[in-house]
Amino acid sequence: MSRIYLSPPHLGEKERELLLDAFDSNWIAPLGPHVDAFEREFGEKVGVAHAAALSSGTAGLHLALVLLGVSRGDEVFLSSLTFAATANAVVYVGAVPVFIDSDRRSWNMDPELLAEELDARARAGSLPKAVIVVDLYGQCADYDPILDACARHGVPVIEDAAEALGATYKGAPAGVFGKAAVFSFNGNKIVTTSGGGMLVSRDASLVEKARFLASQARDPAPHYQHSETGYNYRMSNLLAAVGRGQLASLEDRIARRRGNFEFYREALDGLPGVEFMPEAPYGRCTRWLSCMTIDPRDSRATREDVRLALEAENIESRPIWKPMHMQPVFKDCRVIGGKVSKEIFQDGLCLPSGSSLKDEHRERIVAIVRKVLEHPVRG
Ligand SMILES: *Cc1c(COP(=O)(O)O)cnc(C)c1O
Repeated sequence: MSRIYLSPPHLGEKERELLLDAFDSNWIAPLGPHVDAFEREFGEKVGVAHAAALSSGTAGLHLALVLLGVSRGDEVFLSSLTFAATANAVVYVGAVPVFIDSDRRSWNMDPELLAEELDARARAGSLPKAVIVVDLYGQCADYDPILDACARHGVPVIEDAAEALGATYKGAPAGVFGKAAVFSFNGNKIVTTSGGGMLVSRDASLVEKARFLASQARDPAPHYQHSETGYNYRMSNLLAAVGRGQLASLEDRIARRRGNFEFYREALDGLPGVEFMPEAPYGRCTRWLSCMTIDPRDSRATREDVRLALEAENIESRPIWKPMHMQPVFKDCRVIGGKVSKEIFQDGLCLPSGSSLKDEHRERIVAIVRKVLEHPVRG
């Protein structure tokens, strides 16, 4: 049986046509007409005026921190339950990450914990330079209280929307909540260019500066002149062509991924110990990945039993992100709270979630998970 992957790329005819167009036009090098069009179309889709296409989401996070003036010795607060890229970008600028735990309602940064910590830091005169809020697995964080707390203390917010293209919060799309937001088009994301990212902002000058820094910070002069350190972070015209095709299918991809989640939930919810990632009442989660938890105190099996049973059938599933405060590389960093994200990690599993997943695959997956949870084989 061929392998079922967690979240494989899903490309169509339109991507192929646009890619060939880019190829035939000989606009291969970074930049070109497809990059301009992708930026424009992406901005329209997300509802943000300005967008810069980049080589990765990680590059976008790095640039966002540089643009907000975060530098050596500064502190940055960020969600502990995330992919390492969020925290790595903080380290790239020499700043120190401080991790904030999740709430159970959304699995995202706990707004109350954040507000309490910011208040305490304001009293101590040691506010962080920025806060990075992650929209996990296609679900927006609870922005109203988060933005309130940050605004009260004048701390800027960066939105890591790498996993959340197409998500909404109180009717507004992911990507509009911070000074800047970053998306990823890595191969496993809901829209992919094989690798790539987008930095968006309402602030035209900020996005202009991002483009400048991302293309080696070349001053306007006929010769090569540089007054600042730049980066090679721009997206290639070939990949932007693929991205344009992908973007056109976004609503279909979201519907399919939400369909996967509903399929799993209908088949498995109610089994002892099983819960699904909640959809917070304030918005639409894209269900980029279908996530569940298996509480071993109530279930006869653990999430590892389920993962291994799927693996034995050549089906890829993955534990939920291991929180940053539990990572060896960040062992000396501070964490505010930490118990909630730790428990979600210990019990949490991401099931195959691709938008090209077939009904018969989902049925096989459900049958295997059910079997383990109803008749566990231990040892
Ligand atoms: C994928 C991801 C990134 C990094 O994006 P790349 O394009 O792979 O560099 C950053 N943050 C989160 C939360 C992600 O899931």
